[in-house]
Amino acid sequence: MNQIIKYLLVAILSIALTIFYLDQHAPIIVEVPEKTSQRMSIEFSKEIERRQLQKIEKKAKNVIVLIGDGMGINQITAYKIAKGGPNYSTAFDQFPFTGLVKVHSFDNLITDSAASATAFSSGIKTKNRYLGVDSNGDEVELITEILLQKGFITGLVATSEITHATPAGFTIHNISRYNTDEIAKSMYESKNHILMGGGKDFFIPESKGGQREDEINLLDMINNDGIYLDSKEALMSFDSGASKRIFGLFAKEGLIRSEDEPSLLDMFKFTLDQSKKMVDQNGCSGFFIMAEGSQIDWAGHENDFDYQYKEMDEFHDVVGHALEFVQSRDDTLLIVLSDHETGGLLIEMDELRRKPSSSMLVSWNTALEEGTHTGTMIPAFSYGPGAINFTGVIDNTDVFFSLKEAIGTSEIPNKECTLN
Ligand SMILES: [Zn+2]
Repeated sequence: MNQIIKYLLVAILSIALTIFYLDQHAPIIVEVPEKTSQRMSIEFSKEIERRQLQKIEKKAKNVIVLIGDGMGINQITAYKIAKGGPNYSTAFDQFPFTGLVKVHSFDNLITDSAASATAFSSGIKTKNRYLGVDSNGDEVELITEILLQKGFITGLVATSEITHATPAGFTIHNISRYNTDEIAKSMYESKNHILMGGGKDFFIPESKGGQREDEINLLDMINNDGIYLDSKEALMSFDSGASKRIFGLFAKEGLIRSEDEPSLLDMFKFTLDQSKKMVDQNGCSGFFIMAEGSQIDWAGHENDFDYQYKEMDEFHDVVGHALEFVQSRDDTLLIVLSDHETGGLLIEMDELRRKPSSSMLVSWNTALEEGTHTGTMIPAFSYGPGAINFTGVIDNTDVFFSLKEAIGTSEIPNKECTLN
């Protein structure tokens, strides 16, 4: 009998303690409403009707492409609201031209960053994971390669590894975005002038503490014929006009946001400044810069809104800075794009719609533990010569042709632009 009373007392005490604990530390309960998902079979024609481009009379001397990886319209809207409410005016609001971009890949409604970057840079649809190659695996000519032949300065900036899908899709050719040894080597061998981001490990052999299995020391090679910057301090104190290519590798893999690392804005400002100097000092034709807010996508994969807000805020600073730059002159085209949406971000109804509400409820509409890319169209914002061709509903492959029309690549003779 005593034993039973003892058990009963322990049970009552445990329940009381649990209720008290829950009351003090109420867990966040995430309700997932039952959904009926539907699978439908579709006709997936591979044919893309090429868009009739508007002829651009006044050509762009320079081009800046900013890519928010994984940044859909809801990411931009949620950022705006979190930053200062629904009427807050962001840099995105200042663009005179906007468009919507279809981003499916060659054989999948949901693209990855590799196929999407390849579409932007070469005008062809390819398979997910493919970089700078068509769906058969054959190399295609990239916008950076065309511009390098025409005497342009080219710069690539990312907050991921510089060997990651987006910057790689603009610069190299490989049938897998995961062949990082080959990608880093191809990037070194490419003639691009400025490469900034993380990914130092893919330039250093395993025996020297890096991750290269082939034991080629690309960092030694960079130090031999280029300028290597490895910290924010080195980047900020570098003030001369460069007579060599510049590699800024600030983290072992993606940027981890330590104090030693520059921000995307630091890297972008540096690249813009150096590109201008390189053009002026060497009589080059102009410059092309692609800068990516890479980790907006990573935050979407992690379904982490705080992380995404910080990444969006940093990307937004770059958009604002670039917009100010192009507004101060009339020879530079600026395009802000995304490659796909990540996470299925939703801005949900917080309370009943009839009641006034001053809070925002955000949720992610993809797998609970890890968000995935979604198949929605993404926005494009443009300003400057040729911006008109990035309006309306366009395909991601149209970006390449609109870029060529804006710059007038077919009218520019081939030219060597050697740094002195
Ligand atoms: Zn992406």
